[in-house]
Amino acid sequence: MSRRCDPVPPPAETELPCDPVRTGELPSPALPLERNRTALFFDFDGTLAPIVTDPHEVRLPARTADLLARLYTLTDGALAVVSGRPIAELDRLLKPLLLPVAGVHGRERRDGAGRKFDSNPDGSAVSAADGPLAAFAGRHAGTLIERKPGAVALHYRRRPELAKPVLELAREIARTHPALRLIEGKMVVEFCTGLVSKGDAVAAFMAEQPFAGRRPLFFGDDVTDEDAYPVVNAAGGLSVRIGPGETRAGCRLPDVEMLQDWLSRLAHSWSVPNP
Ligand SMILES: [Mg+2]
Repeated sequence: MSRRCDPVPPPAETELPCDPVRTGELPSPALPLERNRTALFFDFDGTLAPIVTDPHEVRLPARTADLLARLYTLTDGALAVVSGRPIAELDRLLKPLLLPVAGVHGRERRDGAGRKFDSNPDGSAVSAADGPLAAFAGRHAGTLIERKPGAVALHYRRRPELAKPVLELAREIARTHPALRLIEGKMVVEFCTGLVSKGDAVAAFMAEQPFAGRRPLFFGDDVTDEDAYPVVNAAGGLSVRIGPGETRAGCRLPDVEMLQDWLSRLAHSWSVPNP
């Protein structure tokens, strides 16, 4: 459950640069954040970039790209993007930034030194879900199949009225193929192979430089981000849910724009020399 900061004392230099009036629900009021002791983790869609109807059309706002570049430098590289998208797509969307990243919900990962990991190179089992999902998409214009390494997704954001048959189909596939993991996201169902999660990705980053020993902050907005929050919480970090919905995150920001404001203030507080 999210905490309400009520009342919130005025933030000092080392406290979270939050605005209680605008955010409503806020992180723990006196949590100190130091740039060389903080690690930042971000989901991509719905967190760094606003969700769009066609996932192929998503763009990283220029302001967010600038903030990521600044924060990556300020944290000496302890900043990673942890997304359901494949790494190749994340690199394209983040270009010219080349960040530590985890793709396909943690299945793929590239660490702070540029080394690449694939937790389950044989993703062929996912083909069992591909056929029925593709057949459904073929029958329903406006739905969209997305194929990634070791995962397949069916998006229905343009056809929200199809939620019930999509979920019925996905749950039937999951029932008959228990080796596949079903993820029911925002207007999307997805099947993955393996059991690796965003929480595993965060734990792997936190065991390595330059993340090790720092306090993790994780920002997400959807169901797979919920896997990361307990890892972050157990490490004494700060888990943040963007937008409404049930969550295991410790606190909440209302939307993507508010996160941009928050990050801007964080970058500013870290850029101002200490008195
Ligand atoms: Mg998301």
